[in-house]
Amino acid sequence: MDSLRITGIRAWGRHGILPEEHQNAQPYIVDITLFLDLSKAGENNSITDTVDYGQVANLVASVIEHSTSDLIEALAQQIASTVLQISKIRRVIVTVHKPHAPLKIPFADVSTTIERSRIAHDSGEDEINDDASELKSNDHGVVQSSIHSDRSHDHQQSQSRPRVHRAIISMGGNLGNVRRAMREAIVAMDGITGNQVMGISPLYRTTPWGMDDHAPDFYNAIVELDTLLDAPGLLKALQLIEAAHGRSHAVHWGSRPLDLDIIDFDHQVSDDPSLTLPHPRAWQRAFVLAPLADLEPDAVLPGEHGGKVADLLAACPDKDTVRRVSDEWIVNGGSEEE
Ligand code: ATP
Ligand code: CA
Ligand code: CA
Repeated sequence: MDSLRITGIRAWGRHGILPEEHQNAQPYIVDITLFLDLSKAGENNSITDTVDYGQVANLVASVIEHSTSDLIEALAQQIASTVLQISKIRRVIVTVHKPHAPLKIPFADVSTTIERSRIAHDSGEDEINDDASELKSNDHGVVQSSIHSDRSHDHQQSQSRPRVHRAIISMGGNLGNVRRAMREAIVAMDGITGNQVMGISPLYRTTPWGMDDHAPDFYNAIVELDTLLDAPGLLKALQLIEAAHGRSHAVHWGSRPLDLDIIDFDHQVSDDPSLTLPHPRAWQRAFVLAPLADLEPDAVLPGEHGGKVADLLAACPDKDTVRRVSDEWIVNGGSEEE
C-alpha cells in the first residue's frame, strides 16, 4: 500500500515512570508512516484525496503535549489510535524517541516502534481499541463506537448496523486566523471515521462581552454532523481538534483560537457536568441560535430551557449583537466585503 512518512515531529511532553517526569516536560520526537491509498491523489493532484500532513503533525504534537503516559509504548499507542481516526489512513507505524530519558549512563536515544491497523485481520494485527479513540473496527471494517447507550434495543441495533447519531456542534474563536481554524476543524470532523458533515451555517461575528475591552471579536458558526461516535467519544474528538489548534483550557470563557461545543446530540438530555446536553447555555446565546436557525429553520432544542430555536432567538436580549458576515465563507474564506 502507498505510504506517507513524516519524521522528526518534535514536541514537549510529560511522560515517564518517575514523578518528576510528569512535572517537567522533556522533548519527544516522533516518526510516523501513514499507509493509505494515494492513487486518486496522484491522478487528481487534489488535497482532498490524500491526508493533510500538517494536520497529522499537529495531531501528533498535541497528543505528546496533552496526554500523559508512563511508558513511551503507551504514548505511541495513543498517537496511533488518534491518527487512525482519520478515515483514509489504514495503517500506521509510529516511532517515539525519548532522547532525554533519565538513564544513568551516556546514551544516544531510546525509542519504541509500533504498528497498528484500522481493521482486525486474521493475521493477528491489532484492533484499535484504547482510551484515546474508543473506536473499534468490527469484522466488516466498519468502525463503530465501543460505548453504547445502556438501552438494550440500542445494543441490538448496534449488532446489525452501526447507529448514526445527529450532532449539532458550535464553533467559535477570537484568536489568530479563526476562520481558517474553523474550516480546518470542519475537515477534521468530517475526516474522522464514521463522521459526515451534513450542514455548515453562515459565518457570524460577535463583539465579546464580559472580557477586557481589547479582546478581539469572535467568529462563530454551526456544523451539523452525522456520527457513529457516541456523545463522550465525539467530545473527546472535538477536544483533540481544539488542542491541535493550540487551545488550552487555562482560562474558562477567555480568548481562544478554537472552541468546539456539542449543542445537541440526538436530542439527548443530560446534566452530567463533563457533558451537559443540550449545551446548558445554548438557549440564551444568539451566536449559537442565529446560525443554527439559518441552517435549520425548524430546529428545536430539548430540555428545561428548550423550544424552537427561532423563538429562543427572538427572545434573546443580545440577538442584535451578532452579525451574519458571510454565507460563502467555506468557499471564499469569509471576507466581509460580500
Ligand atoms: P461554555 O461551556 O460556557 O461554552 P467553554 O466552552 O469556554 O464555556 P470549556 O473550557 O471549553 O468551556 O469547557 C469546559 C468543560 O465543559 C469541558 O471540559 C467539557 O467537559 C464540559 N462540557 C459540558 N458540556 C459540554 C458540551 N455540551 N459541549 C462541550 N463541552 C461541554
Ligand atoms: Ca463554548
Ligand atoms: Ca467548550
